[in-house]
Amino acid sequence: MTEMETDPYTHRRALNPLVWLSLVFGVAVLIAAAVGTHWAVDQVDRRAVTAERRTIAAALALERESVVAGELRSIWQEARRNQDEPGSAAVLADVVRETYDLARVYILAPDGGVVRAAEGSLLKEEVIDANDRAAVQLLVGQFGQMEGADEGPGFSTREANHTRLADTVRLEDGQLAFVGIRRIGPDGGGVDEASATSFHLVSIKPISPQLLASVADHFELEGLHIAAPRPDHATLPILNNAGRVIGFVAWQPNRPAVSLLWEAAPAGVSFLFLAATGLAFLLAWVRRTTVQLAATQTKTTYLALHDPLTGAANRVLFEKRLLEAMAYPYLARTTVALVAIDLDGFKDVNDTYGHAAGDQIIKQVATRLAFALPEEATLARLGGDEFALVQPGVLNEGQAKWICQNLMRVFDTPFVLTDASIEITASFGVALEEGNAVSATEMRRRADVALYASKAAGRNQLKVYDPAMDKSRREKRTLEVELRNALLTGQGLFLLYQPIFEAGSNAVAGAEALVRWDHPERGNLAPDMFIGMAEETGLINQLGTWVLEEAARFVVTSEVPWVAVNVSPLQFRNPDFADSVLRILSTRGLPAERLQLEITEGVLLQNSRAIQAMLAQLRTAGIRIALDDFGTGYSSIGHLRAHSLDKLKIDQSFTRSIVRDPATLSIVRSVIDLARALDMSVTAEGVEEEAQRRLLKDLGCTELQGFLLSRPLTAQRLLGLLAERRSVA
Ligand code: C2E
Ligand code: CA
Ligand code: CA
Repeated sequence: MTEMETDPYTHRRALNPLVWLSLVFGVAVLIAAAVGTHWAVDQVDRRAVTAERRTIAAALALERESVVAGELRSIWQEARRNQDEPGSAAVLADVVRETYDLARVYILAPDGGVVRAAEGSLLKEEVIDANDRAAVQLLVGQFGQMEGADEGPGFSTREANHTRLADTVRLEDGQLAFVGIRRIGPDGGGVDEASATSFHLVSIKPISPQLLASVADHFELEGLHIAAPRPDHATLPILNNAGRVIGFVAWQPNRPAVSLLWEAAPAGVSFLFLAATGLAFLLAWVRRTTVQLAATQTKTTYLALHDPLTGAANRVLFEKRLLEAMAYPYLARTTVALVAIDLDGFKDVNDTYGHAAGDQIIKQVATRLAFALPEEATLARLGGDEFALVQPGVLNEGQAKWICQNLMRVFDTPFVLTDASIEITASFGVALEEGNAVSATEMRRRADVALYASKAAGRNQLKVYDPAMDKSRREKRTLEVELRNALLTGQGLFLLYQPIFEAGSNAVAGAEALVRWDHPERGNLAPDMFIGMAEETGLINQLGTWVLEEAARFVVTSEVPWVAVNVSPLQFRNPDFADSVLRILSTRGLPAERLQLEITEGVLLQNSRAIQAMLAQLRTAGIRIALDDFGTGYSSIGHLRAHSLDKLKIDQSFTRSIVRDPATLSIVRSVIDLARALDMSVTAEGVEEEAQRRLLKDLGCTELQGFLLSRPLTAQRLLGLLAERRSVA
């Protein structure tokens, strides 16, 4: 409650690196995929362009060769048959023009004169077009050289006696064209002789858009044209036979990979989307799981460090806080205070109202304390009804006390349960570090010692540790050991018997056994000095047995009508208690009617079936049960009725003030009425004055007990008193 170590935001933040990592990873994968794809596409497309380039080059080469292709022998023979050589040349030109679809054709006579010129299907004047002139001259020159070079491997096709040469040129008007030249002459003529007599056919085929379009069409290319190189186009240099670049063809490359990519794009995008969604879901799941895990961890940590009932720190966390506080260098001259808090008589509350109610109260106490707590304090529940507080930065003892007094004030208001309102107090023990380097363990011990001192001082107290307390603790330890020895050896313990008198006749009705301890060093100890210690250490059971044995042993041989023995509520916790009482009676031979047990209201409050059964068992056996110190505890009429007891003993405090205090008088009167109604007798304790005796007798008390009538006596003197009385009577 002081310590809520749950902060969901911390875990959200803690998760971010994972998300970031995933995002970065995802983006990296995407980039890698994009780069990879781009590279692959580029590679594939480059290869495709290379293939296209090769195709185009081949197609153009084919076109180039086409200007000199074909078998002209038969055409020549046909022309010779007409015996009109120039005429046959003319016919030949027509044929060639029509057959090969060349743009322009010239037939040159052996002397170099133009015999025929044609453009398309039209004959023209027999001159070489100005546009073609340079190209034709070059070609004829080259061809002449080639024919001169004879057998050598020419750069054109040699075929029988028809030598041919094709080339690519740039015409006068800038247009690129394929040009071709071949000898046309008779079959089997020698080269030298032939060259002197041969006619030549020159063909010119411009690389026109139509030509390119038909090539493009044929090879499924886009936009094939003559152009300077452009970055967005694929280009192919056009070389002439001399290897010089005379122009470029450009085209839109097909880019099959890019188009494939475009076709695949929708599928790819869907895939990416799916993958991203999947990843997002995965991340969300991981994140949720992590958050849950963190929450579980936080919860586990919380549970490991906190008391589940109250939410206050548990022992582990408290220890940690104490060590931290003690290790932390606070302002000069401040100290750490450790406060041990214990609820007073909480066991009775638990026994009376049940554990659920007890838990309710513990919870309410924790809540109230937490509200009254200073800022820096840590409140812990160390178990049962034990709380503790560590407070750093305390200036002095005064401040520590002031803090505790604030905490004590929370007990001023009763604690409310569904069917009851309960008043509870708490005892506080404070230890201050006070600059003298004490260990945490020593601090805890000191707080416990101080708490113990508070309890011993009558509860609902606040005590600050003082070394003198250790001394009394040590003495108590020693006393415990000594009592244990006394019980073992039977040395030092003895009983006094205080007679109880008939109110009317003043006769000795019986006697109450009161234990004494003749301590070797400290002399005669009253029960107040060691009963509490015996109860704390559990020795009370042995002590109670010893008292019963001793009382029975004495009374059985005496004329004492009955003996009353005090029983601590703790003895009733022992399930064997009633049986052991009856066993002692039978071994000692004391009739049950001669024994009374004085119990306190706390026993009735325990309200358990086992106790009820034991009381019933004892009463059935004939033992009478008296309710001691009546009026000081919580008893309700309901309890009295439920248990049907034999006697009420009005507490000394009432006797003491009955004469002077009318309120007390009327209370006692009601008590006596109540006892009568419940068929119980009434003993008044602590009668010290005659006025008290008379008043109590008149009010209707059945028996009286007190120093006025007799102090507690040794067994011997009790017997003497009885003998004295008998002789007087
Ligand atoms: P108690 O049962 O109320 O016993 C009566 C106490 O009052 C006795 O004190 C007795 O000496 C004292 N007393 C009797 N008449 C007067 C009087 O006129 N004036 C005053 N001021 N006191 C008077 P004691 O013997 O010191 O016993 C104290 C308490 O110790 C007892 O109170 C009883 O509760 C407890 N006690 C004594 N013996 C035993 C025992 O054997 N077992 C247990 N469990 N408790 C015992
Ligand atoms: Ca008593
Ligand atoms: Ca009493």
